[in-house]
Amino acid sequence: MGLVSGKKALILGIANERSLAYVIAQRLASEGAAMVVTYQGEAVESRVRNLASELQAAAVEPCDVTRDGDIDAVVDATGRALGGLDLVVHAVAFADKEALVGRYCDVTRPSFLKALEIGAYSFTALARSAARLMQSSGGSMLTLTYFGAEKVVPHYNVMGVTKAALEASVRYIAADLGPDAIRVNAISAGPIKTLSAKGVRDFNSMLSLAGERSPLRRNITGRDVADAALFLLSDLGAGVTGEVLHVDAGYNIMGM
Ligand code: NAD
Repeated sequence: MGLVSGKKALILGIANERSLAYVIAQRLASEGAAMVVTYQGEAVESRVRNLASELQAAAVEPCDVTRDGDIDAVVDATGRALGGLDLVVHAVAFADKEALVGRYCDVTRPSFLKALEIGAYSFTALARSAARLMQSSGGSMLTLTYFGAEKVVPHYNVMGVTKAALEASVRYIAADLGPDAIRVNAISAGPIKTLSAKGVRDFNSMLSLAGERSPLRRNITGRDVADAALFLLSDLGAGVTGEVLHVDAGYNIMGM
């Protein structure tokens, strides 16, 4: 009997085998969860379909979170494919390349709105939609954030502001949905080489600095994130909601 046996999960954010969404999905599948996964755009569709078959996903659905219709449609499709919904993983973010370099304060209005819409508003819209299917059984939702929400990280810029909004959203949504026994949490992951990470200038320096200066003197792995996700999503985390759990080898505690 796995830690999430019989649980029905919706996973957003798989682009390839390095995606944190995929690593988390693998962990959930290994502990007995059934799932529906989404992809954004035709460019990644066939790759995501291959990964989904490894996960034995019940369905693979297109979802662009900038379209409200897509979010509701994918939640409804999950309900149909799995007969309910218990777990949601939101591992979605995007910022224009030019917004991830130079000064934060030079961000344009369209770049600001796009980053906030995709990285923060989408979690609110998804939580609201998913809660419709969860109300009788309770449920657990998880999103992914980064330390750049709390402190200035060079070049992270509008993505840091987006993650700050996302972390605040986690608390507000947790308060809204707690009476329905729905838990809402975030993992603040240390840097890991993924497709999105490549878009952040000097990402390799972030990686080596985090590895050298964190208390555990190492970088985190996808497995570290997936294990923490399993804790928060499963009943092991039954008493935890509105939390931002750092999975960063302790990097965030260091003052100097
Ligand atoms: P990734 O590139 O594999 O995943 C990002 C996903 O966002 C992709 O699947 C992409 O298709 C999706 N996406 C972008 N725009 C979208 C849209 N409009 N609609 C639907 N989906 C859209 O990279 P990742 O590192 O696995 O990122 C997952 C999450 O983890 C992100 O929120 C990221 O900010 C966060 N995170 C990553 C790191 C890291 O170092 N990799 C650290 C902390 C937090």
